[in-house]
Amino acid sequence: MAARILAIANQKGGVGKTTTSINLASGLSNAGLRVLLIDLDPQGNATMGSGIDKRPLHTSVYEVLLGDTKIRNALHRSESGGFDLIPANRELAGAEVELVDLSGREDRLKEALAEIDSEYDYILIDCPPALNLLTVNGLTAAHAVMIPMQCEYYALEGLTDLVETIKKVRNHLNPTLEIEGLLRTMYDARNTLSQQVSDQLRKHFGNKVYRTIIPRNVRLAEAPSHGVPGIRFDKQSKGAIAYKALADEVLGKPV
Ligand code: ATP
Ligand code: MG
Repeated sequence: MAARILAIANQKGGVGKTTTSINLASGLSNAGLRVLLIDLDPQGNATMGSGIDKRPLHTSVYEVLLGDTKIRNALHRSESGGFDLIPANRELAGAEVELVDLSGREDRLKEALAEIDSEYDYILIDCPPALNLLTVNGLTAAHAVMIPMQCEYYALEGLTDLVETIKKVRNHLNPTLEIEGLLRTMYDARNTLSQQVSDQLRKHFGNKVYRTIIPRNVRLAEAPSHGVPGIRFDKQSKGAIAYKALADEVLGKPV
């Protein structure tokens, strides 16, 4: 059976895409599943947060997208996370331009993943904060999109562009692409605006909104500097407990 592939995307920066990618990858691994995380962001935050140094990489997602290496050669192991990783670093920023003239520029990641997807249960793709060709590669390769978002005033507005892009990808590149779910991140229950936006979100998207809410939790923010997913860095923290609940919810377990 081929892996279920989820793109974790939102063109808005700093909403918790990478934190969600790393912690969900680790949470699914804790549940006994075989997980691959793809870092599709030149910032390389998912790479560093998984305990892998992005600077000296010989093989990364960049070479995979350009067809300079087989995807298998770009696999790294995150010992701290319990999953495999295709890392990224600044080099990837050039791919945007270099891919333009290549054939099948939107489905390069999809084609590469087809070589290894039978070896995993889940493949997660951490997308950059832009609706660019890298994100389009992520959306084209995925079965579904997970959208982390902060419950702020402009959050819903930003979603319109993302939903439009998802529709375009569906029409031209990946007809079965679904929205897996919207995830409320960095949530502060004491903030009335958060509650209002959260209510609006449920009104618009109904059961596409995950029941699990990720609270603002400093342990989640500290973990990346140790190269360990928050879910393993401090198992008792509120953030770790929330991400474990998210993994359960994704797996269809009662929450
Ligand atoms: P970018 O768009 O730059 O890729 P992102 O959407 O991937 O950002 P993250 O890097 O996951 O967002 O998070 C942004 C910052 O917020 C990071 O410093 C991260 O450690 C912190 N952070 C993420 N989630 C939480 C949380 N639940 N509680 C506290 N801090 C958090
Ligand atoms: Mg990120």
